Amino acid sequence: MSLLIVTGLGKSFGGNRAVDGIDFSVAPGELLALIGPNGAGKSTTFNMVNGQLKADRGSIRLDGQELIGRKPREVWKLGVGRTFQIAETFASLTVAENVQMALLSADARLFSLWRRAATYRRDDALALLAQVGMVSQADRPCSVLAYGDVKRVELAIALANDPKLLLMDEPTAGMAPAERHALMALTKRLVVERGLGVLFTEHSMDVVFAHADRLIVLARGRLIAQGRPAEIRDDPQVQSVYFGSGKTFEKAGDP
Ligand code: ADP
Ligand code: MG
Repeated sequence: MSLLIVTGLGKSFGGNRAVDGIDFSVAPGELLALIGPNGAGKSTTFNMVNGQLKADRGSIRLDGQELIGRKPREVWKLGVGRTFQIAETFASLTVAENVQMALLSADARLFSLWRRAATYRRDDALALLAQVGMVSQADRPCSVLAYGDVKRVELAIALANDPKLLLMDEPTAGMAPAERHALMALTKRLVVERGLGVLFTEHSMDVVFAHADRLIVLARGRLIAQGRPAEIRDDPQVQSVYFGSGKTFEKAGDP
């Protein structure tokens, strides 16, 4: 049973078919990686799923509901969450306050006084922080956290809306290798526990092959392969289209 079902999805910019009729699905508890060279159509695909770009054709169904034609806010309310980088303005807030802000936003309640927000669903915020291993740092400002810890807070924020599907655009960008694997292992654990699905793009092939349950490979807007990491790694067509001749996934790993 799939959570997200994408069929015949297409988007052109002028005469350029950025995404040219692709089909894929995401199951609950699954981490699906979307990979491909620059200009393959990864961001365009992402932005059609989250409602920021309107598809020209095809269908994107989440739990049976069509997402095409809905505004980003509606798509978010229906259960498509995404990780955001903690904005500069929020860096001065504590870890817990950042998650409380996300809970407020998820509840769509208006608040006029910070005094009210300061106590708002603090227990729920701490429970989310416990899930990402950040409860002991709840009262520190985000600005003083290690980079990998900020990423864990961003994950807690994304989970505050209780999404069914989580979109992650290069979740481990800028992280050291050990931190990358820790973040993805944490993501996998939470995803399985909560039964949500993840669609992510990732530059590090190391991370993709270690943590994705399945991969889809885009090239020039077309889906050229999909399968388990081991299948994709050994696919000669993927090797040649993705990297050109003479390169392999191993060599094309981390920069
Ligand atoms: P990726 O994220 O895989 O690098 P993109 O989805 O950003 O690829 O881009 C796919 C193709 O669509 C590229 O040829 C790119 O130049 C084009 N494209 C993307 N966004 C726009 C846009 N807003 N306007 C015009 N062309 C775009
Ligand atoms: Mg992109």
